[in-house]
Amino acid sequence: QAKTAGRNAIRFYDPVMQASIEARAELEEELRQVVERNQLRLYYQVQMDSSNRPLGAEVLLRWQHPERGLVSPAQFIPMAEETGHIVPIGLWVLQTACTQLKVWQSDPLTCDLTLAVNVSAKQFRSMDFVSQVQRTLAQSGAKPSLLKLELTESLVLENVEDTIAKMRELKLLGVSFSMDDFGTGYSSLQYLKRLPLDQIKIDQSFVRDIASDSNDAAIVQTIIAMSEVLGLNVIAEGVETEAQREFLDLRGCHAFQGYLFGRPAPLAEFEAILRKA
Ligand code: C2E
Ligand code: MG
Ligand code: MG
Ligand code: MG
Repeated sequence: QAKTAGRNAIRFYDPVMQASIEARAELEEELRQVVERNQLRLYYQVQMDSSNRPLGAEVLLRWQHPERGLVSPAQFIPMAEETGHIVPIGLWVLQTACTQLKVWQSDPLTCDLTLAVNVSAKQFRSMDFVSQVQRTLAQSGAKPSLLKLELTESLVLENVEDTIAKMRELKLLGVSFSMDDFGTGYSSLQYLKRLPLDQIKIDQSFVRDIASDSNDAAIVQTIIAMSEVLGLNVIAEGVETEAQREFLDLRGCHAFQGYLFGRPAPLAEFEAILRKA
């Protein structure tokens, strides 16, 4: 008995665990200040049409940390969600993306490019999300039709009625919607039919083994066929090989994103890819 209690006591003061608690607290404190400290960066990953012409990009967030270097979103978005810091962070992403759209609009090479922005659940549910998007579009002068918001199935299904109402308001502003990571969640056809979506984005987990796994191949074909019935555009993410691209293209996929065309890159690098395309 005493021994067990002792062990538990020791475990409680485990220096490793204590360190990780402190590290978490530190991370949270740093996360609170990322925007004002100007530590956020946007990376751009090209999206191609079936003739290998650039349609635009998805913007992917990075944290330029003074000691840790470039931190990927998987390492801080979950905590930013939990703590609510994602709301100002998400607004920064939106503002930066819209400012970039406005710059591109005055250059014939880039004036038609779209930008896809990932929206987190907390951000989407916040009371003034619609007015934030409206204000950001107005202040930047970006064409709303060039802004695409990526929502995940879990976000959408969390509160379908609220989601549909908000999406409708945003559609009235002129923005479009893509359903990110499609196939990994539980959205039924019933919901899909009701959502004012423009695009379905096939999750990279189905694309990876498309050429060798007959289940994945069948799932992807079904998603494309279903999108056609619903009148939705389809994009595949995680396209890394020409074989994957060809498989998707033959089955009617409209757009492609993945390392085959370009990794997420800082603006200057992305623009260099465009000039070569
Ligand atoms: P996502 O929206 O599904 O983004 C696609 C992820 O796949 C990106 O990871 C991208 O770098 C990666 N990827 C692209 N092409 C390939 C490929 O060919 N092969 C492989 N293996 N991976 C590829 P990243 O940049 O690390 O972002 C991870 C996730 O973090 C995103 O998944 C998104 O859910 C989230 N995220 C990124 N930026 C933001 C943001 O601004 N706001 C919010 N709320 N979430 C974001
Ligand atoms: Mg995305
Ligand atoms: Mg995705
Ligand atoms: Mg994904």
